[in-house]
Order: sequence, then C-alpha cells, then structure tokens
Amino acid sequence: MDFTDWLALYRFQRKRHNPARSFLRSLRKDLRRVHSRALLSRYIGPDAKGIEIGCGETTIAPIRQTLLSDGYESHAGALSLAKAVFPAEAIPNRDSNFDFLLSEHVLEHLPDPIRALKEWKRVLKPGGVLFLFLPHPERTFDRARPVTRLEHLIEDHARQVGPEEDAHWEEWKGKVLGLGLASHYQKFSKQETLKNNLIHRHVFTPESCKKLLAHLEFEVLESMDPVPDREDSFALVARRSL
Ligand SMILES: [Zn+2]
Repeated sequence: MDFTDWLALYRFQRKRHNPARSFLRSLRKDLRRVHSRALLSRYIGPDAKGIEIGCGETTIAPIRQTLLSDGYESHAGALSLAKAVFPAEAIPNRDSNFDFLLSEHVLEHLPDPIRALKEWKRVLKPGGVLFLFLPHPERTFDRARPVTRLEHLIEDHARQVGPEEDAHWEEWKGKVLGLGLASHYQKFSKQETLKNNLIHRHVFTPESCKKLLAHLEFEVLESMDPVPDREDSFALVARRSL
C-alpha cells in the first residue's frame, strides 16, 4: 500500500463516525498483509479496475482501483468500507466489466458457490483475474468436517438452492458449534445463521477449489497455502478463459 492509497483510505474513513480510529485500524491490518498485497500486485496493473466481493471493514485491494462491495449493510456496520451493497450472486454491472475480482472468505458461506462463481466470471473481462482467499479447514473451526465434493456443488446448483437451504445446518451444529468451535456464532439462531449466510456451508481445500475452478473453465495461475499473513487461509489466483 503506497502513500496515495493511504491518503485515499484516510479520505474515505474521514466520513466515518470515528475516522482516526477507523483509519489506524485499517492501516494496522493493511500493514500486516504485505504478502497478500504482493500477490495481488503481481497481476494488477496500474490501470486495472476491479471489484471486491465482501470487503467488510478492511481490504487488501488497491482501493482507488476497486469497487468495494458487501452483501449486507450489517456486515461490518459503521466500519464497513463497502461503497455498494448487493448479493454476491447478483452484481449490478455489465458483462466483462472488471480486470480483477477479489473475494476473501465469502465463497464458503454461499448456498450455491457455482452460481456465485458464474456471476463473478460474467463481470470479469476475458483474461480477467480472480483472487480467492478461503479458510483452510485444517486451520479453522471446520477441521472436523469433510471437504465438499464437486458433485455436491453441481447438485446444489442444479437445485438452485438459496439461503433458506438447511442441508448443512446439522453438520454445522454437530461438527462446529457442538464441539465448542466458532463460539462467536453460538448466539445466533438457526434462522439468523442461514438467512445472513453466517454459516460455512461448504468446506474447500486448494485441491477441491482447483477442481471447482477448472469445472467453470478458469485457468489456475497460482496457489498460496498457507497465506503467510493470513495463516488460516489459502489463496488461489485464476484467470477467466478468453
Ligand atoms: Zn451444499
């Protein structure tokens, strides 16, 4: 993150309710993510324009070049950096609009990851780059769960499952909440958990995610596991086919 990015971030945070605190908080988090930023900068040129799906209160994207978005107003509340709010599966932009798309810790929450990835592919230009950061089950509260198979995702997509789908609830309850993991999610009801996509519905590893991306005709360019500055995660870089 260079000085002009910091300045842009400060200008953005100035409108917040506690701008100095928000700015310092973002700065601290940003400085911790040098490896992730370096990964992005290997593929993002100075004139590239992109979008982030699910930014929350911090981002590793070059903010002057990125439309920061979230699926919910409530995601990071007053600290959210999102400039636009829409579902990850319904982006209000034309086809082939962006040079890159970044998403950190979103895909595992969605009922139909194939639907989302098809939408992300739609808004990427041919040759555009997808950056996916996902939690690795071995290093998160998903450690007792099986990795989701591609066949399952294909079936979810064929059935057009939505947030009300509760097929993963029992597993989440038994293998995450029931083991005392993810305690911050204990307070939410089943309905809230599903409606707001708080649940991790599906579990990915770099290998399973590569299969999914290949199924959608993305070309995987690079894989990082673990991400040195976000150790619970792995990252994949893939290109939309031409
Ligand atoms: Zn499913």
